[in-house]
Amino acid sequence: MPENMLTADIGVIGAGPAGYSAAVYAVRAGFSVVLWGGPEPGGQLMTTNEVENFIGFPDGIMGPELMERSKQQAIRLGVKFIWDSITGIEKQADGFLLKADKEPGKVKAVVIATGAVAKWLGTESETKFRGKGISACATCDGFFFKGKKVAVIGGGDVAMEDTNTLTQFAESVSVFVRGEEDKMKASKIMYERAKNNPKVKFYFNTEVDEFLGDDRLKSVRIKNRTTGETQELPMEGAFVAIGHKPNTDAFKDFVECDDGGWIKVNVTATSVAGVFAAGDVADKVYRQAITSAGTGCMAALDAKRYLEHQN
Ligand SMILES: Cc1cc2nc3c(=O)[nH]c(=O)nc-3n(C[C@H](O)[C@H](O)[C@H](O)COP(=O)(O)OP(=O)(O)OC[C@H]3O[C@@H](n4cnc5c(N)ncnc54)[C@H](O)[C@@H]3O)c2cc1C
Repeated sequence: MPENMLTADIGVIGAGPAGYSAAVYAVRAGFSVVLWGGPEPGGQLMTTNEVENFIGFPDGIMGPELMERSKQQAIRLGVKFIWDSITGIEKQADGFLLKADKEPGKVKAVVIATGAVAKWLGTESETKFRGKGISACATCDGFFFKGKKVAVIGGGDVAMEDTNTLTQFAESVSVFVRGEEDKMKASKIMYERAKNNPKVKFYFNTEVDEFLGDDRLKSVRIKNRTTGETQELPMEGAFVAIGHKPNTDAFKDFVECDDGGWIKVNVTATSVAGVFAAGDVADKVYRQAITSAGTGCMAALDAKRYLEHQN
């Protein structure tokens, strides 16, 4: 074994709510645990401000603070942190080799908790107003737009669900769809539910030309894709709902994934015995911090049961 090879009972891959929770439960169960944190220590919550729906914080908590506290909790309990990315997993006779550029590891069971990333439009003005009016999570941030005019960008089922969620808070919801109405990606039932809500207005064949404002988003300039005609609509919120990508590039040839790349699980068990998955990487439906922490706990307890049966 190379000199710099780390060893542990359980290797956790990912430093978001799922990874931290899995690591805490695994170490509290008496196992040695190494956690590889990857490209974004703290995960998606590092990119948000106030988290108001994580239970136990009556006044809300800033996303980065929630993650820093989770990390400190794991460190205090004895989790070893490595700020390196795992590039692949190999099954070996006595466990798993976790490949990494700098600090690979040898473990007996694995929890994959590498999360997902929202797809963004990728424009400069979108980046400028992210967290300042622009979000990719209606369930998380819709509440902050009570009585305001908001937009949804996208024409799939998630965009329709976000639209319906936002009608509970917003004064109006404008939905910008690139394609024509008869080519909507969303299922008919989801589309009709959104369309029939009096607060909702659809703009088809339309794309965002520019997000505008000063320190926060104030309006959205949209463009008709056929005529090139533009119009500026006052808007304090915009929700980009054009999909998510699970972080499974390093594992998709090792564990079974669905067509979208999400890891297939039976509760938390993947297609490979001894390898478990938790959080957004195996959940395209709920994608919340609390559900990720919950499945992280479950994955650690499933790994514990697996290891107990190995002995
Ligand atoms: C802007 C925004 C606001 C949100 N607000 C809320 C909210 O208010 N409430 C709520 O409940 N949820 C909210 N969410 C959703 C929540 O952040 C996610 O559901 C949650 O973070 C998912 O946790 P996770 O641990 O599964 O993955 P993530 O948080 O995505 O963390 C993934 C981790 O895996 C690591 N990683 C990735 N690839 C590798 C690799 N190859 N090797 C090693 N490590 C790797 C990353 O570095 C990261 O540390 C929000 C999301 C966003 C984007």
